[in-house]
Amino acid sequence: METTAAFAGLRCTDCGTVHGADVAHRCPDCGGSLDATYDYDAADVSPADLEPDASAGIAAYADLLPFPADALVTAGEGATPLVACPGLADDLGVAEVYVKDEGHNTTGAALDRGLALAVTAAAATHDATDVAVPSMGNGGQAAAAYAARAGLESHSFVPSRTPFVNKAMINVHGGDMSVVGGRYADAVDAFEEAMSEEDWYSLAAFETPYRHEGAKTLAYEIAAQSDWTAPDAVVHPTGHGTELVGLHRGARELAELGLVDGEPRLYAAQAGGCAPIAAAWEDGAEDTEVWETPDTIVGPLEIPDPAGGSRVIDALEATGGAAVATGDQAILEGAVTLAEAGITMGASGGAAYSGAQTLAEQGAFDPDDVVVLVNPTTGNKEADILRSHLMSKGI
Ligand SMILES: [Zn+2]
Repeated sequence: METTAAFAGLRCTDCGTVHGADVAHRCPDCGGSLDATYDYDAADVSPADLEPDASAGIAAYADLLPFPADALVTAGEGATPLVACPGLADDLGVAEVYVKDEGHNTTGAALDRGLALAVTAAAATHDATDVAVPSMGNGGQAAAAYAARAGLESHSFVPSRTPFVNKAMINVHGGDMSVVGGRYADAVDAFEEAMSEEDWYSLAAFETPYRHEGAKTLAYEIAAQSDWTAPDAVVHPTGHGTELVGLHRGARELAELGLVDGEPRLYAAQAGGCAPIAAAWEDGAEDTEVWETPDTIVGPLEIPDPAGGSRVIDALEATGGAAVATGDQAILEGAVTLAEAGITMGASGGAAYSGAQTLAEQGAFDPDDVVVLVNPTTGNKEADILRSHLMSKGI
């Protein structure tokens, strides 16, 4: 499989060994997760090479990805809008607030970027015929769409509480789906049992090196849409941490390449009913502990054992950010507030706003700060939850 001029292998985050792209998942030496690494001199990238292009999808950023543009499985993901929300700046006591609206992605979710790249690796590098993923819903839907794009079979393992929209679209894209009784951990168990018997390419977060790699393109777009400056802070709703870790990787690359001065402080926003990262942050711990009784209405955030927990904490520490958790009612109110400002905010996106409100109360922001709130999922997928919130208020 051809790789790009800049791609220099997959580096183990535990032992540091660099492997070739022929390694599919974890480090063969120690089992650590792998990160793509690059020779930035060979990349010779300028801002013009990283302009968002809705037609090209993540192929617009191929100079800084492992695989060349013509090999990438894309359906036009990325190139999502950065929407100014001046009405929120007073509330947060900052200069400017923007929503990076990832609901505009192909299947309506931020993780399209990473799954596009991971499915590319499955199809082009590892000659996979099948891909599989455990998911709260959005990951399964995106996997089904991108597998269809690449001509692969997909197998999604979702808990029974997964929204109807996700289940329906997994089927509509032609994917195989196992609906597992219980919660996310039960879906993971079913996935792992199947994987022990099948020769499928795993699309699980941080198992494949490519989901958090594709997610880094979010940082490129925020920079490009901010005239190649870094915002002061980005608040990202966080489950496994794939997108936040990718955001950190992208922001660091831009600084290393000299394309942007400085990096944003990164803030992980979680739901109070399932907040292993926020709890670890509060305790000053280096890694997360399993959240024993996950219970939030915001399904995409109900991840009790984040695969990227320690890596998120590292990113928060490295950038001077923090983790924060808010309750379901505050999260839903946050999403509806943004919806009333004309943004199709998902419930999980509401966590970015309610989290930012709590951070503002804690003094995390300066009056001249530019703050970006990431909406990871379109409100169209979660309309029932948002509407129920209005009804609970008698509206
Ligand atoms: Zn290793």
